[in-house]
Amino acid sequence: MIATTCQHKRKTSKGRDRKGQQRWTCKDCGVCFTNYDPKPLGEMQVNLDKAKLALRMLTEGMSLRATSRTTGIDRNTICKLLVLFGHACQRFLDDRMHGLKLTHLQFDEQHTTVLKKQARLTVTEKAERHDIGEMYIWTCIDQQTKLTPSFLVGKRSADNARRFMMDVAKRLARPAPHTSDAKRPSECSRPTTTIAGRRDTRTRAVRLVRSARARL
Ligand SMILES: [Zn+2]
Repeated sequence: MIATTCQHKRKTSKGRDRKGQQRWTCKDCGVCFTNYDPKPLGEMQVNLDKAKLALRMLTEGMSLRATSRTTGIDRNTICKLLVLFGHACQRFLDDRMHGLKLTHLQFDEQHTTVLKKQARLTVTEKAERHDIGEMYIWTCIDQQTKLTPSFLVGKRSADNARRFMMDVAKRLARPAPHTSDAKRPSECSRPTTTIAGRRDTRTRAVRLVRSARARL
């Protein structure tokens, strides 16, 4: 429902607007208004319950084509739904994940491939495209609450490591100790002191991970 300037309760019907929506007039102050239904999917015409079912299937691990066959929604529509849902989740997380008091963060990356393998990229693609080939999901998880305060999708570069670290740092209320697997890009990212504060416990943990790996 659209919020009107008038807060009165008594209203009378005043026909319909050109889109067929019911119009009302306030009996006390005479303001005209229309009650529009909320549109969580924006301009998309797909049924809301069906859209929810499709998203639930996808999050349970069902494939895009299988979801399309089961729900009867077109594959391209499901792709658009995914993008819409992703942006909404991003806004929700940006809105809520602030001033976090975490105890110990573990940083890591998940590997995946987009469109084709890194070795199959042409020289031009390697230089210009940063959205295909080898791709990583940068994540971090809190030891106690299992909360993931932020994530980043991109190449495993020092630049992305720095951006991710800065993003996590700005969501924390106080510096938190953290560890990583000490791969080179995360090693390069110096804003770690922003997260860990003056006593950087990470260096010790990195050494521990390294010695553990050497023993294998
Ligand atoms: Zn009124």
